[in-house]
Amino acid sequence: MNEFITRFAPSPTGLLHLGHAYSALVAYQAALEAGGRFILRIEDIDLTRCKPEFEKAIYDDLEWLGLDWEQPVRRQSDHFADYARLLDQLIEKNLVYRCFKTRKEVADEIARAPHLSPDGPEGPAYIGAPLPADEEKKLIDEGAPYAWRLSMNAARTNLGAQFEKLSFIEDHFGIREQVKATPEIFGDAVIARKDNGTSYHLASVHDDALQGVSHVIRGEDLYYAAHLHRLLQELLNLPAPLYRHHKLITDGQGKRLAKRDKAATLQALRQSGVKPGDIRQRLGV
Ligand code: GLU
Repeated sequence: MNEFITRFAPSPTGLLHLGHAYSALVAYQAALEAGGRFILRIEDIDLTRCKPEFEKAIYDDLEWLGLDWEQPVRRQSDHFADYARLLDQLIEKNLVYRCFKTRKEVADEIARAPHLSPDGPEGPAYIGAPLPADEEKKLIDEGAPYAWRLSMNAARTNLGAQFEKLSFIEDHFGIREQVKATPEIFGDAVIARKDNGTSYHLASVHDDALQGVSHVIRGEDLYYAAHLHRLLQELLNLPAPLYRHHKLITDGQGKRLAKRDKAATLQALRQSGVKPGDIRQRLGV
């Protein structure tokens, strides 16, 4: 049997809360039970929102919770060149195109022709097209910023019949479900952002493959991301891990916890005298 390797991959854009603790503990516990490995990865490609003090708090909070992890910790901001190389592969295969549009322009275009927009996980998704070569050259020469979008049409053509057959495995403690991947709901997803030349999708798929992750264990808010990740893996000849999307932790009103819910941060709980054992008990892990 292959080695069991899983990871917790937080973004240091705020303090960790109970939802993160649940995710980290579920992954950690799964690795322990399988006699496998647990990796901590810092997903800090968003250079404006990620802060060193939040990264430090991640280490402190997880240590306090009783977790340990392998060193060195991979910090995505140290590896932009890796993601650029992966993007180059998509460029060479003509699977991506430059998009110079602003968010507002994209939203306006979707609003003008909603019937052309797939129903994406976060609302209507965008389908565009590359600009004519001369227009594109002019904008590049002017230094206009652009993102790279994955052309869903090009991906479909590239994979042929295989596109419809894409699937991934949801593995819930031995119960395995084969899920048909429907990446087309993302439309032409941004694969490299204007500001940092990569995206969560590209960096995450890259690192899971590099780090040999066999089980991606994370919250069900990222369930649909797996559909797109599965497509990227296929286009880039990367291995497909198994997935386990777990329930999300909610507050007393049944609302999902967010980084702005100060009272539920591990730091606040720790300072108020709560013990790691209380947290495990409350979360049932
Ligand atoms: N960095 C992502 C987050 O903080 C998690 C990504 C993942 O687990 O795939 O939500």
